[in-house]
Amino acid sequence: MEYKDIIYKTPVKEGLINYEKTFEGFDWEEVKNHFKSFSNHGVNIAHEAIDRHTSTDHKDKVALIWEDDDGVQKGYTFLSIKRQSDKCANVLKSIGIEKGDRVFLFLPRVPELYISIIAIAKVGAVAGPMFSAFGPEAIMDRLLDSNAKAIITTPELNQRLNEVKDQLPMLKNVILVGAKDILNEDELSYESEMNKASEVCKMRWVDPEDYLYILYTSGTTGKPKGVTHVHNDMISHYITTKWVLDLQEEDVYWCTADPGWVTGSVYGIWGPWLNGISQVVYNGRFDAEKWYSIIEKHKVTVLYTAPTALRMLMKAGDEVVKKYDLSSLRHICSVGEPLNPEVIKWGIKVYGLAIHDNWWQTETGSIMIANYPCLPIKPGSMGKPFPGICASIINSKGKELSFGKHGLLALKRGWPSMMREIWGNRQKFDEYFRISGWFATGDTAYMDSDGYFWFVGRADDVINTAGHRVGPFEVESALVEHKAVAEAGVIGKPDTERGEIIKAFIVLGQGYQPSEILRKEIQDFIKKRLAAHAYPREIEFLESVPKTRSGKIMRRVLKAKELGLPTGDLSTLEED
Ligand code: AMP
Repeated sequence: MEYKDIIYKTPVKEGLINYEKTFEGFDWEEVKNHFKSFSNHGVNIAHEAIDRHTSTDHKDKVALIWEDDDGVQKGYTFLSIKRQSDKCANVLKSIGIEKGDRVFLFLPRVPELYISIIAIAKVGAVAGPMFSAFGPEAIMDRLLDSNAKAIITTPELNQRLNEVKDQLPMLKNVILVGAKDILNEDELSYESEMNKASEVCKMRWVDPEDYLYILYTSGTTGKPKGVTHVHNDMISHYITTKWVLDLQEEDVYWCTADPGWVTGSVYGIWGPWLNGISQVVYNGRFDAEKWYSIIEKHKVTVLYTAPTALRMLMKAGDEVVKKYDLSSLRHICSVGEPLNPEVIKWGIKVYGLAIHDNWWQTETGSIMIANYPCLPIKPGSMGKPFPGICASIINSKGKELSFGKHGLLALKRGWPSMMREIWGNRQKFDEYFRISGWFATGDTAYMDSDGYFWFVGRADDVINTAGHRVGPFEVESALVEHKAVAEAGVIGKPDTERGEIIKAFIVLGQGYQPSEILRKEIQDFIKKRLAAHAYPREIEFLESVPKTRSGKIMRRVLKAKELGLPTGDLSTLEED
């Protein structure tokens, strides 16, 4: 990287002012002191994020500014979120939800989603947020694996649940938001129950190590795994939000992620509210003009979004930016996929702001590597490790590699928000620690001589499409459930807008011929069964797919062929 490419910032007056000095003297215990409850009767993140503020002058401060794509708007103060979540906690108690029970959320980004997540924490239960684009199979996998006891959803989304409900004997209650029709025996109306519930609820104090939420994420093999996090994560949530997102008292903050993904839960709920910040939630699809109008209308000061969205804003052009007053914006952050230097340069040109990339994953529970307002940005780099985080580039034997060498991105365990379990799967959990002394992230990267980390790729076959992690195995399994599909191999294909798109190579069963109609039918089948974001945008019909002698599909060969690269030594691959 040439020096002219480094972007220097103006001096920072609040938050993280001196990275090097803070990094040197950092101690997680000192952050913990911020939370009074750690020293007495037990903790609860809901107390720290919401209730605590209602005995301060934050009581009447706006916590949530909500808007949907029809332009309907609602506002909630910290006090109103406290009252609503107390009521909702009482509803959960009335149906027998106890500490440790898994309660899933299958909702669009409506206020009830945010209120319910706080309420679930208040009763000491474990929240399982699910992305509303999931199909019946994805829903069933999660509810079944975690033995979920209740789910909060809408009548519309409930139709997808109903397709698999007979296979979920542990699921006792379905709470429906906005139900108008007569309900089934196990269904309750959110609104009627809330009307009956008391506004006073006793907080369930828990141990910092008690579970808070479970989010399912994809790996190379098998079904999605339940990454489980605890109340203790609040230490990381609080301080990373403060120093990376740089949130300050007067900020109006907008995280564009859905709570069904880890960014939307950690930095779209907990982090900002632990810091007592007003946040915007937009329940609607991406639309450049709509996004700009939200920034203008609510005077958003800090935006946290993803490279795909930024690339789509860039595609919408410079002229549309001029139609809106975006002068409130003072800090933009990005996560989820590699952020192209061109996007950063474009951001400086049109917004007058450098976009700050950061890196983390569901398993780490909070931002691990970041570009900070107080440090120069090297466009294309993920930045430097957060204070208290030891990140390194290692080889498969755990040896640390020198500057510039590509290797595995690994972390030393010991930060507060590291996942505590892969739900019910000790073996999968242990796989992360297979290299002695390290937590292996599954990514490859390198570090330059200034200590900046640069993303190279995944060490496995996991696909990252528009910031969403998709396991090829899940898509392949769903594909072969289609009557016409005999075999399928799935890869991530580089794409300028979405980072990667999902491409499927399909061998058809006897009697089926490739056609456009069949292609579309298979795509719709995956959208409905698995999830709207997980369908293969490209399908290529083949006579056969390359396989090892033991029958495993060689995705590496498919990918190399697709990219026009050498396929490597096939004889060794066949022994895999
Ligand atoms: P998830 O757990 O779904 O948030 O996905 C985490 C994965 O997304 C990481 O392991 C990376 O592969 C990718 N990722 C997250 N942030 C970045 C980033 N800033 N640059 C490149 N890849 C990223």
